[in-house]
Amino acid sequence: MAELSVMDKLVSLCKRRGFIFQSSEIYGGLGSVWDYGPLGVALKNNIKAAWWRAMVQAREDIEGLDAAILMHPEVWVASGHVAGFTDPLVDCRTCKGRFRADHLQGAACPRKPSKHPGEHTECDLTAARQFNLMFKTFMGPMEESAAVVYLRPETAQGIYVNYLNVLQSSRQKIPFGIAQIGKVFRNEITPGNFTFRTREFEQMEMQFFVTPGTDEEWFETWRGLRMEWHRSLGLAAEKLRWHQHGPEELAHYARAAYDIEYQFPFGWQEIEGIHNRTDFDLRRHQEHSGKKLEYFDQAANARYLPYIVETSVGADRVALTVLVDAYREETVAGETRVVLGFHPAVAPIKAAVLPLVKKDGMPERAQAVYQDVRRRWSAFYDDSGAIGRRYRRMDEAGTPFCITIDGETLSDGTVTLRDRDSMAQERVAADRVVEWLGSRIDG
Ligand code: ATP
Repeated sequence: MAELSVMDKLVSLCKRRGFIFQSSEIYGGLGSVWDYGPLGVALKNNIKAAWWRAMVQAREDIEGLDAAILMHPEVWVASGHVAGFTDPLVDCRTCKGRFRADHLQGAACPRKPSKHPGEHTECDLTAARQFNLMFKTFMGPMEESAAVVYLRPETAQGIYVNYLNVLQSSRQKIPFGIAQIGKVFRNEITPGNFTFRTREFEQMEMQFFVTPGTDEEWFETWRGLRMEWHRSLGLAAEKLRWHQHGPEELAHYARAAYDIEYQFPFGWQEIEGIHNRTDFDLRRHQEHSGKKLEYFDQAANARYLPYIVETSVGADRVALTVLVDAYREETVAGETRVVLGFHPAVAPIKAAVLPLVKKDGMPERAQAVYQDVRRRWSAFYDDSGAIGRRYRRMDEAGTPFCITIDGETLSDGTVTLRDRDSMAQERVAADRVVEWLGSRIDG
């Protein structure tokens, strides 16, 4: 049998251990829509919490927001999405394959996978047609064009239309930012690579409002901070790089754009975009809504439309990046050990408590430790199977620490603390376990 690729192994691990399942699997699944199981939702929640801490909690100049998914349809006319949120689509008349015209070089011809679509003699591609990626639905009982509303394809517009509400209610002054995490929907033409490109996903976006003229400096500041954030999740520095958008790639709203890219098994790919959007968005909403969106700068005694520096990252894509980055296989004593080497900050389970045997008072001691630990962190109690197997199960779930209650615990009150990565074990007094974990999990 051909050797499974890292992605195949990861997909199978994610299902087996309850990270990610295919949506509606018992009905044959729904294309590129995924569900998060117990470990997956914990991982994604930890990523979102880390982002919120860095972007909102730790900063006096950024406020949080949770805008609705459904918005006035004119929002999407003003933003340019109705006219221009399109991807060029080509079909192959021979194999009925459907491709993004701008991604042909990254796609394989279904008839001859060693070639790109269009390169095989039998390929018969149509001309490119523009395909709008927004999902439409109807508001109210009538399915008519006047009732069309869209499922938002980005969270940013909810921030722009609320910027004066947030500014006035929070008494912020420019420069300041608004951050939000929320679901978005895109009817992608060629989704794939597991959860890398899906049709429903969560974005974590921050829009930073600045005085025109200071935008380039803020753009550089946010570039630096965002790269640092990805490293703080434990992602390997050599697998992260910058990609600057050239003039032909630059979106209609942007003066400058950089992507943070990660080296996936399927190549270097974007995980976050940082954009200097100028005053494009506020100007368009001002024109379309007829409401003044200018800021009055008291210190300068001037009115202006602020410029916006945007940081936009997908929570699901970061979760996939963290999974890919963490996955490794090692040979230990002639056996393969599969490890998800998560940084403790994102690990779904921080510590497992394992009584060596189910007798001699060990379960009682273990339960006491377990209750102590789970007051602060997500913890897991496992008393079944050989201890080595229990360690392997936790390695595979990415649990950084295991606490074993054994014979010595009963005689001297110490437990074994095992580190997932080094597999080193040390003895610590049971009543100092929380302190020991705290210094390693919370830093
Ligand atoms: P592409 O050109 O690859 O379609 P994009 O440039 O339109 O992507 P943005 O609109 O800048 O992407 O989205 C910001 C972030 O949202 C991306 O960096 C990525 O993390 C995430 N994202 C975008 N599209 C998807 C998707 N279909 N599935 C999962 N995450 C996505």
